[in-house]
Amino acid sequence: GLSAAIKIRQLAIENNLPDLSVCVVEKGSEVGAHILSGAVLEPRAINELFPNWKEEGAPLNVPVTEDKTFFLMSADKSQEAPHWMVPKTMHNDGNYVISLGNVVRWLGTKAEELEVSIFPGFAASEILYHEDGSVKGIQTGDMGIGKDGEPTHNFTPGYELHAKYTIFAEGCRGHLGKRLIAKYNLDKDADPQHYGIGIKELWEIDPAKHKAGLVMHGSGWP
Ligand SMILES: Cc1cc2nc3c(=O)[nH]c(=O)nc-3n(C[C@H](O)[C@H](O)[C@H](O)COP(=O)(O)OP(=O)(O)OC[C@H]3O[C@@H](n4cnc5c(N)ncnc54)[C@H](O)[C@@H]3O)c2cc1C
Repeated sequence: GLSAAIKIRQLAIENNLPDLSVCVVEKGSEVGAHILSGAVLEPRAINELFPNWKEEGAPLNVPVTEDKTFFLMSADKSQEAPHWMVPKTMHNDGNYVISLGNVVRWLGTKAEELEVSIFPGFAASEILYHEDGSVKGIQTGDMGIGKDGEPTHNFTPGYELHAKYTIFAEGCRGHLGKRLIAKYNLDKDADPQHYGIGIKELWEIDPAKHKAGLVMHGSGWP
């Protein structure tokens, strides 16, 4: 979503439409707050968005130097797969080990430089429609509702944001996205959406064993 906002502002400036306004509504307390951190990044998209990202200080500091793939057989036994046996999609040559939270925060500063208005802490809770059924914008959630569901003294009603174009970029299985898919039959004649649950673990290891740029894949045990 943030990348789309950046691209639209870049295009607006290129096409001499400096007043075209773009607004990002982010339910996290700040941009990047809801992003799981460690990741391996394939840099094609960032190369397109900011060809000079290195000079501009993007936090892509650790190039992948090596991939290792292991079949884990027990708590203390494993077999390393030779590199040629490992599917190409798991080769990370040219990719970077990053903190996605830091990369997204950096994108947030770039977006602000391009005068994208970012509203952190606001969740889009309703989709607003024009009379003809097209999307008019979104409404943010009411703030200051007590545990009992009743307004507290801090109550502020949600804002309506109307736009010529509304882009929904909630990640997979966004709750507004599900409503849009149902309303406009967007899944007609399409394969069902498939997605998985991913779990991240943060390990503290002996610094002597740490090798910057090494990516290890494991499958099997337990
Ligand atoms: C455990 C795990 C590990 C992964 N590892 C990698 C990896 O190493 N490399 C890699 O390339 N990819 C990885 N991915 C996949 C990657 O994280 C996703 O593909 C990517 O984040 C999707 O980006 P997105 O912008 O579509 O959605 P998201 O990153 O989910 O962003 C959606 C944003 O919208 C906000 N939002 C959602 N709903 C609303 C709402 N109603 N109102 C306001 N804001 C809202 C959220 O707070 C969030 O900031 C991993 C995913 C998981 C789960």
